[in-house]
Amino acid sequence: MSERVFNFSAGPSTLPLEVLEEAAREMTNYKGTGMSVMEMSHRGKPYIAIFEETKADLKRILNVPDTHEILFMPGGATLQFSAIPMNLIGKSGKADYAVTGNFSNVAMKEAKRYGEINIACTSEDKNHTYIPAQKDINLSKDASYFHYCSNNTIYGTEWKYVPETGNVPLVCDMSSNIMSMPVDVSKYGIIYAGVQKNMAPAGAAVVVIRKDLAGNEHPLTPKLMNYGVMIDSDSMQNTPPCYTIYMLGLVLKWIDRQGGLTAMAKLKAERSKYLYDVLDSSKMFAGCAEKEARSDMNVTFRTKSEELDALFIKEAKSAGFDTLKGHRAVGGMRASIYNAMPIEGTKKLAAFMREFEARNL
Ligand SMILES: *Cc1c(COP(=O)(O)O)cnc(C)c1O
Repeated sequence: MSERVFNFSAGPSTLPLEVLEEAAREMTNYKGTGMSVMEMSHRGKPYIAIFEETKADLKRILNVPDTHEILFMPGGATLQFSAIPMNLIGKSGKADYAVTGNFSNVAMKEAKRYGEINIACTSEDKNHTYIPAQKDINLSKDASYFHYCSNNTIYGTEWKYVPETGNVPLVCDMSSNIMSMPVDVSKYGIIYAGVQKNMAPAGAAVVVIRKDLAGNEHPLTPKLMNYGVMIDSDSMQNTPPCYTIYMLGLVLKWIDRQGGLTAMAKLKAERSKYLYDVLDSSKMFAGCAEKEARSDMNVTFRTKSEELDALFIKEAKSAGFDTLKGHRAVGGMRASIYNAMPIEGTKKLAAFMREFEARNL
């Protein structure tokens, strides 16, 4: 394959071509420093400039208020599944979790090691094909925080509202839809995301934390998972994931050039519509998630048989549509269509689906 494919991988996932080309141009000699960003000291002037600019761009683009701090932490989103209870649950010993998919379930189970967990709502009864309504969320009175996952990467559902939790801090795993639309950060205690879905190559998590939430950590919390320590050291308690942060910086500049998060939100709706229009009119393909809950970032669908699914995936790959196999928990197909997926990608995939249906129905 000499050309780039349309890469529908759920994560690590496609990055803007412009960004990859820019990184390639700067690979061996970053702005006259005579070295790669990979090779430079994280305490040196050139790297500190990259770090500060990336953080400032993230703050501006995501509209992070001064009450909140931005952290770059190692270990992806999964390490935050532990860091969150270790830092926050001490307040009352209890926390509320919404379980709407695989990752929120894993996060909930991990939190159980540190305190008493109330499952405030779950969509498990219908294999996570929907998102519970606000009226079906059972909040406990004295939870230290409420945790939910705004986009369920595996099941292809997305919360279309921000849960109301009163004074209980809202903690959100936004790994697969952060930076895909504007959000009111002031509503959240913590927003966190592994960067490899919608922002950068793997190797870090972005954590946006309301500063007053730090300081309740379990005494055995490792230093690198301690929000207070990370805030005080500006994420530089040790060597940060330098190159990943640099790449994130380039992606943020790219988002700016596209018109920021308002433009991302418009593109996100446009991109998924090509695929959902096919699913809504097809006699062969059906969406896995309920219509009101379906995600603009991960589109899950299937045919009537596993054989036909396999044939579709194989033929799609030959035609340049890569990594469409669904997660084993759902089966069928999944098209992950994050910010960097060109509109052409879903437009052409939709045409291919219609053509495949005509040939195989
Ligand atoms: C991928 C993903 C994770 C896990 O991320 P890691 O960075 O691999 O730990 C967690 N939550 C969501 C919603 C995800 O999509």
